[in-house]
Amino acid sequence: MIKRRKTKTVKVGSVKIGSRAPVVIQSMTKVPTVDVDRCVKQIKRLAHAGCRLVRLAVPRRADTDAFAQIVQKVDVPLIADVHFSADRAVEAIEAGAAKIRLNPGNIKKRKDILRIIDAAKMHKTAIRIGVNEASIRDLRKEPIPTQKRTALMLKEMKSYVRLFESRNFNSLVLSAKSSNVTRTIKINRAISETFDYPVHLGLTHAGLPEDARMPSAIALGTLLAEGIGDTIRVSAAGNPVEEAEIAKQILIALGLYERSSPELIVCPTCARSEIDVIKLARRVEKAISRIDKPLRIAVMGCVVNGPGEAADANLAICAAKNKGYIYRNGRRVSIVPENKIIPALLEELQKM
Ligand code: SF4
Repeated sequence: MIKRRKTKTVKVGSVKIGSRAPVVIQSMTKVPTVDVDRCVKQIKRLAHAGCRLVRLAVPRRADTDAFAQIVQKVDVPLIADVHFSADRAVEAIEAGAAKIRLNPGNIKKRKDILRIIDAAKMHKTAIRIGVNEASIRDLRKEPIPTQKRTALMLKEMKSYVRLFESRNFNSLVLSAKSSNVTRTIKINRAISETFDYPVHLGLTHAGLPEDARMPSAIALGTLLAEGIGDTIRVSAAGNPVEEAEIAKQILIALGLYERSSPELIVCPTCARSEIDVIKLARRVEKAISRIDKPLRIAVMGCVVNGPGEAADANLAICAAKNKGYIYRNGRRVSIVPENKIIPALLEELQKM
């Protein structure tokens, strides 16, 4: 079991972020915020996929107006993503944002940052301070050697946290992002050693979903396995529901997410298999898709190693030529012809 790093707990609407709460999956809408109906639909799909927080970009005044409408139409606490504009930040807070994401580095005037902090305090809105490598470059207007970036990001984060704390504002979540896996790990280790605020993990510009999956799993998985990270967002181009699915898979792999649906285990197949295991596994996947119990269900390609390798499954099918051996909790309960495997599996599921 992973021992989470101890942090403060920050309330984001009805959702708690921090070491005492489960790691929170979040994602971002990818339709114009002014398109209220499409945003609401996407937020509901993301919530169904496991997101407990959803972020929306609010670059224009019309977006914060739409944000106010969207807040009223969904149950998920919403985060406003703000860049460059103190006005947008204050409008989003007044519109009902449970949290805003702010890079204080691109709000130029200190008095504007203080105005945002005061509004957030008044409305009990949390703030994520997000620094990233790109903003470090912007501040310096010159390329920075990679070995210096972590130190500079940490320095920048320290100055922002000091500013917020000087105003007695503690509802902070911190994030430091890079598109590079090893630097993401390094900076987040440094942030979590320095502060006791919850940490938001993510890898920026991770790529198309198929390309984002592996680097995100390595970066976020490494940190989460060390107990670092209280909310995560996987960034991938395309459908945000895929981001949520990848995030969920990372947490499930680390035992940080309680499943509400079955886990399907499939043997890799080898020369011992006498049936099409993948085809059978796809049929099982479809048959169990509406089951809402966290069961382990295994599809194995033979009766030589299959029963032993699936011994910890609640239900296992070990396939042989033209037939299937059905096991429940490691004990064989029936042998059925190939065309009866799925009905036999469903019958056993009914009993559980
Ligand atoms: S369960 Fe059987 S078919 Fe599948 S990989 Fe193991 S030995 Fe091969």
